[in-house]
Formats: sequence, C-alpha cells, structure tokens
Amino acid sequence: MKTKRQKICHCCGIYTEPQAQDPDRDKGYGTCKKCSTQIALDNEERWKGVIALVAKSLNPENRAKFLSEHIAVQAHICDEMIKAGIISWKFS
Ligand SMILES: [Zn+2]
Repeated sequence: MKTKRQKICHCCGIYTEPQAQDPDRDKGYGTCKKCSTQIALDNEERWKGVIALVAKSLNPENRAKFLSEHIAVQAHICDEMIKAGIISWKFS
C-alpha cells in the first residue's frame, strides 16, 4: 500500500522510499533502490566500452594516467569528449 510520501518507481512500478524522487521524473515518480543499482551497473558497462576505446587511442604515458583514474573520472572525461564532438556515441 502506498503511503502519502512514497513515490512510484518509473522503472518497475513498485512503491519506493519517499527520498527516491528523481529530479528528471514527473512528480510522484522516483527510482527504487534495486532499479537504481541496476541502472548504475548498466551505465558502468556502457562506459567500460567507451573507456577502452579512449584508452586505446592514447599514448602509453597518457593511457597509464587515464587508466589510473576512478571509473567515474574516466566516464566524465569520455562524456566531455562526447560533448566536444571528439568522439560520438550511438545508442543501440
Ligand atoms: Zn524499480
């Protein structure tokens, strides 16, 4: 049963915690913990492919620096490269 402050998960439709409001979603919708975890894992998998491609194109010194960064930093760098038009990303 839904309580007044709960949100509906936009992904699986279950009632979520009140704090699960997603700013990109309509009012009353959020993302439950299970779906949030899955989405984060899916995103990480997608980024791994882009990160590998970018790493391959760098010289050995820069590749070592790039690969020593946390995946969030690597993904941010790739995101900046996508925004700058240096690389493109097709969703399939
Ligand atoms: Zn969900």
